[in-house]
Amino acid sequence: LPSKLPYVGTTIFTVMSGLATREGAHNLSQGFPSFDCSPRLSELVSHYVKNGYNQYAPMSGVPAFRESLAEKTSRVYGVDYDPETEVTITSGATEAIFCAVTAVVYPGDEVIVLEPAYDSYVPAIDLNGGVAVYVTLDSPEFKIDWQRVKERISPKTKAIMVNTPHNPVGTVFSKEDLNALADLVRDTDIYIISDEVYEHIVFDGAVHHSMMTHPVLQERTFVCGSLGKTYHTTGWKIGYCLAPKALSKEFRRIHQYITFSTVTPMQYALADFLKLPEHYEQLGAFYQRKRDRFNEALKASRFRFTPSKGSFFQIVSYRAITDEYDYDLAIRLTKEIKVASVPVSVFYADKKDDKLLRFCFAKDDEILDKAGEILSKL
Ligand code: PMP
Ligand code: GLN
Repeated sequence: LPSKLPYVGTTIFTVMSGLATREGAHNLSQGFPSFDCSPRLSELVSHYVKNGYNQYAPMSGVPAFRESLAEKTSRVYGVDYDPETEVTITSGATEAIFCAVTAVVYPGDEVIVLEPAYDSYVPAIDLNGGVAVYVTLDSPEFKIDWQRVKERISPKTKAIMVNTPHNPVGTVFSKEDLNALADLVRDTDIYIISDEVYEHIVFDGAVHHSMMTHPVLQERTFVCGSLGKTYHTTGWKIGYCLAPKALSKEFRRIHQYITFSTVTPMQYALADFLKLPEHYEQLGAFYQRKRDRFNEALKASRFRFTPSKGSFFQIVSYRAITDEYDYDLAIRLTKEIKVASVPVSVFYADKKDDKLLRFCFAKDDEILDKAGEILSKL
């Protein structure tokens, strides 16, 4: 069969997690917690499952959940989205990103992608006949050079995709980044698709600057989020899109024919749980301790790194250890020393090899300690 995505194989996350399982390796590759969600949250799910909340949810999401999410958004960011018309619940942020891209991208439209980029963006653009226009961020800082972004804007530019906190490199947007982006799109018809799934995982006193907090950006942005990262429930695949009414209207037209609606009892449970801010307020500190625990072990090694500023990933340079291709090294380390990681080259269109590996530190301390001890010898 001819392929619409001839350049993709199985995603790296599936490949590395599968290999880690087969090899009995510590799995620091795919981004998911090794620990469970709050017992209170699972009790809430059981409650709703046992009490008959098991049929289709409304297309745009359970109203109580949309309301709870809008309230929380207003509390955290001071921005109001109408739960009726501007909040849509999706099956993971992956679906939200796909629907947002599909809503705005027509064949031939250009979409600016800052790379390294999460692996679902470009396939979504391609499946809609769009053209990804890349701006490559330079290691080791991965700072966005907005002048370079400006130079890539053309009359065909339909959207710019952004991601903060960033997977895989762990950078976070500053207020200046928001201002610079706003200056580029002000008085244009360019949309922003903003992946903010790690919104609550920022470190060292940093603040997550959501695109919604800048008025010029808010009016044109699809903010895509995921409850999986915040509540240690990646397997539930519950995400959402916050966008102004006109954008949400088109977004929902598409969402209703991709999944129609999202799993019901979890939405009710999350509607209740979102009202307790302690969990997400402490999440940054919780993951910062894990980052530091893991990084402390790496200090004894020849890996070089700048501590991640956000997300639950740490990238490390292995240049002082070997000059192998990062993909080969990730496979070899999984087999030989039983620690699985993700090679950063997979996040570039041309598979650029900067000699970087990504480790996920959303793991129990014992796993981090064991993996850290093994890696510290390299
Ligand atoms: N964007 C980024 C940057 C991610 O890391 C992930 C997930 N791991 C997603 C989107 C997808 O989120 P979800 O699992 O909610 O579809
Ligand atoms: N986002 C996760 C990661 O970066 C993986 C999600 C997936 O497997 N699709 O590891």
